[in-house]
Amino acid sequence: MDSAELLDLPEIEVDGYEVVNGTYNIAAHLRADSALCPRCHTASTHVISRYSRTIQDLPIAGHTVWLILSLRRFACLNPDCEQRIFAESLLFAKGFAKRTDRLNQAVLASIKGQSSIVTASLLGSMGIIIKKSAICLLVKKNNRDQLHGGQTHRNR
Ligand SMILES: [Zn+2]
Repeated sequence: MDSAELLDLPEIEVDGYEVVNGTYNIAAHLRADSALCPRCHTASTHVISRYSRTIQDLPIAGHTVWLILSLRRFACLNPDCEQRIFAESLLFAKGFAKRTDRLNQAVLASIKGQSSIVTASLLGSMGIIIKKSAICLLVKKNNRDQLHGGQTHRNR
């Protein structure tokens, strides 16, 4: 079993990890050789540059987990497309999200009528680092998505 399988994130390949003060920093990149342009959906393998994005994921055995992803910017090779450069997108986290979708789901599921301060402290004891303000934002966004037919959030 490789590490990505253990994380249940088949689209990534783990490059290594380090444990810092009980926190797991897992370095990884996406396995795919190509990415689809978000505008014209043409596949590109032409990598322009790389950048790092850090996203918190579900804890492992109570340890906070940060995925440190090395991501690529691709050039769109379609001459008719206005999008010249695009970043590869993740299936497990939204555009600029600081947490994986499954971590956000776990946070939402842990709110059982108690205040966001209590929730933040409870999650902290389980290795999920989130401020109460971030919990409030997440709840607001989730309510809004459900209001506008956010079916994907209800599929469990
Ligand atoms: Zn394009």
